[in-house]
Amino acid sequence: MIEIKNVSKWYGPVQVLNDCSVSINKGDVVVVCGPSGSGKSTLIKTVNGLEPVQQGSIHVDGVSLMDPNTDLPQLRSRVGMVFQSFELFPHLSVTENLTIAQVKVLGRTEDEARERGLKMLDRVGLLAHKDKFPGQLSGGQQQRVAIARALSMDPIVMLFDEPTSALDPEMVGEVLDVMVQLANEGMTMMVVTHEMGFARKVANRVIFIDVGGRILEDCSKDEFFNHPENRQPRTKDFLNKIL
Ligand code: ADP
Ligand code: MG
Repeated sequence: MIEIKNVSKWYGPVQVLNDCSVSINKGDVVVVCGPSGSGKSTLIKTVNGLEPVQQGSIHVDGVSLMDPNTDLPQLRSRVGMVFQSFELFPHLSVTENLTIAQVKVLGRTEDEARERGLKMLDRVGLLAHKDKFPGQLSGGQQQRVAIARALSMDPIVMLFDEPTSALDPEMVGEVLDVMVQLANEGMTMMVVTHEMGFARKVANRVIFIDVGGRILEDCSKDEFFNHPENRQPRTKDFLNKIL
């Protein structure tokens, strides 16, 4: 589904991704962790072409992001993204937030978009809030709307960049619950998070990136959590700090 091969990226003289290779198959739930500034957000943004790279190749569902003939907006519309900050349109109602891209990007009618959007809103347990504005919702509810909005586009894969790290602690659970449910339904997911409880519950792989954008670990959840003797010293360090 996603094939990242030997990708390197620099911001000016600073290398932020160093020869990264990741392949994600249909139905995989891959958790990406690593210290602050290690390149996790950059890596995830490269997957939908939001960040160009200087070396390597990226394919999404067989389509190359580097090919000048690739319709990037079309490809992006099939890759759902959920960010740390919810990035809902504050001046639009929840329903309008859910429908606008479906109409503008996918060309759906207002009725189709509304039906699809409200179905996804129901799935995240917020149908009753359809006519509210983002500012009237809690952070956890806004993030669930953001997830519903991404799902309304019928994504083939969902990318999450620290979706719970801006939330008050009491709201983390409701967002993780929605993500666990998605994972259990077979959605292909790449999730940057330090929520190791989530990783233990649903990840099938864990990737650890170290400062400088180098992937130090890419292994099964069992291998990652239950065989610390096989982990790199830097990974053990990191795990000791967050667990
Ligand atoms: P993480 O998500 O793991 O915290 P990021 O991918 O956000 O890391 O950042 C990786 C490195 O790239 C950091 O050193 C950061 O300061 C740098 N960086 C991120 N975005 C930019 C940018 N637009 N311009 C220059 N440097 C950047
Ligand atoms: Mg980040």
